[in-house]
Amino acid sequence: MEPEQIPHLIAQIALADPRVRREDPTERRAQILMWAGILTDVPYDYAVQAAQEHYATSTWPILPAEIATRWAATVRDRMNRHNGTFEPTAHPELDPDDISGYITALRNERQAVVRGEAAPAAVKEITAGTAAEEAERRLEQLGSYVPRHVDEVLDGYRPIKASRRAAIAAGLPDPLAVTCDWCHAPAGEPCRSRRVDPKGATTSRRRTKPHPSRLEAASHATLQPRTEETA
Ligand SMILES: [Zn+2]
Repeated sequence: MEPEQIPHLIAQIALADPRVRREDPTERRAQILMWAGILTDVPYDYAVQAAQEHYATSTWPILPAEIATRWAATVRDRMNRHNGTFEPTAHPELDPDDISGYITALRNERQAVVRGEAAPAAVKEITAGTAAEEAERRLEQLGSYVPRHVDEVLDGYRPIKASRRAAIAAGLPDPLAVTCDWCHAPAGEPCRSRRVDPKGATTSRRRTKPHPSRLEAASHATLQPRTEETA
């Protein structure tokens, strides 16, 4: 609230508890400054309501810190229930490329929830709104974030991943699931060939095919699933 609203708030509270009002002008000015600093973020109506709730159960004079603490808890509760997702269809005036406009709209939405002007949106818009059916249909089609037909096109450029995918699809053991005893490639990494050139420098190259011992180890691991208890 604005500092000008503080005297009104104190007058309002003094109706229930005359002790909160300072009579000395210097003290009163200091009190207003102090309350204004503590209650900057708290809306006037909320402070009045918090004072009412306080005097409904307490005979002690209310402190501005109590109002600010109540407000912080209310904001925290509202923001915890608000998922913060942005529904563009609620802002048809926004240009999709207007980043600062988007940030302003998002900020305004959150501020409205913080101030209690808008109810927290507790459901994820994309899986609960009008687009839910469309989103579900597309996910069904895609299977993953990369559509299958795109994966197939990309396979031409990444033989290692392609052969791995093909092996998994064919139900064959996945050599990259185990480490390689031959070249010490860790699980998930392709095997490497080391070469020593005439000058004596070592170069290492990714192999498209795993070392035979790794394939063997992978099929062994598939036949005898690891048993941590006996290891
Ligand atoms: Zn290897």
